Amino acid sequence: MQALAIPSGKKFFILLISFCFVLNFVKAQKPEDTEFYSPVPKIVTPGKTDSEPPSDAIVLFDGKNLDMWRAEGKDSTKAAGWKVHDGIMTVEKKAGGILTRQRFMDFQLHVEFRIPENITGSGQARGNSGVFLADISDNGGDVGYELQVLDNYNNTTYVNGQVGSIYKQSVPLANPSRKPGEWQDYEVVWTAPRFKDDGSLDSPARVTVFLNGVLVQNNYVLTGVTQYIGKPYYKKHGTSPIKLQAHGDASEPISYRNIWVRPL
Ligand code: MG
Repeated sequence: MQALAIPSGKKFFILLISFCFVLNFVKAQKPEDTEFYSPVPKIVTPGKTDSEPPSDAIVLFDGKNLDMWRAEGKDSTKAAGWKVHDGIMTVEKKAGGILTRQRFMDFQLHVEFRIPENITGSGQARGNSGVFLADISDNGGDVGYELQVLDNYNNTTYVNGQVGSIYKQSVPLANPSRKPGEWQDYEVVWTAPRFKDDGSLDSPARVTVFLNGVLVQNNYVLTGVTQYIGKPYYKKHGTSPIKLQAHGDASEPISYRNIWVRPL
């Protein structure tokens, strides 16, 4: 039987270092080492329901008036021309779209909309509106990034233009549409694009969207503004208003309620 060799010299030193290293590694595996206590998340009081604004939200529409909005177009003093009634607002197509008076970068947004029960039309001409997560037009045109609003309950159209799509860019992951006449809700997380001083793109816009609680856009990276005709492109901008679209189709106008935003 071979006697157990006693290490000596250099060999002993290497063994000792290895032992200390293992000991130290075992010692480091305390739960406390991966627990930290700051920064403490701020306290936010949630609404009584998920449709009500939490305590730190900016309420853009609470059913009373359109003070937080203006008419789209060059004249920034022009009041929003949509109808407020029964705690909701209804699109007035001839008055054009409406923009928030306040400008935003990144945010969480809650919006509820209702397609009228008596909706008519088909394809894109059936309850068409839209939430422009950033409107970068200075003359009232549809220049920006549109999250489509449309009646797609038993109504088909090009899939990258149906409700829940980032218009003509990203097909929604599902179609959780409710029937016309029922309220529906969007929960949006928007990260605005960033631009370099020379005007070139630094980081693209990203968006996550739930429609009626169902994920329809999962951190989608936009390739630019959403266009009716032509390819998306990026053009330098900073903070922007949010816009609700007045679409020119002949179908009955849709309504909105409970709109609030949490800048991030
Ligand atoms: Mg639209």
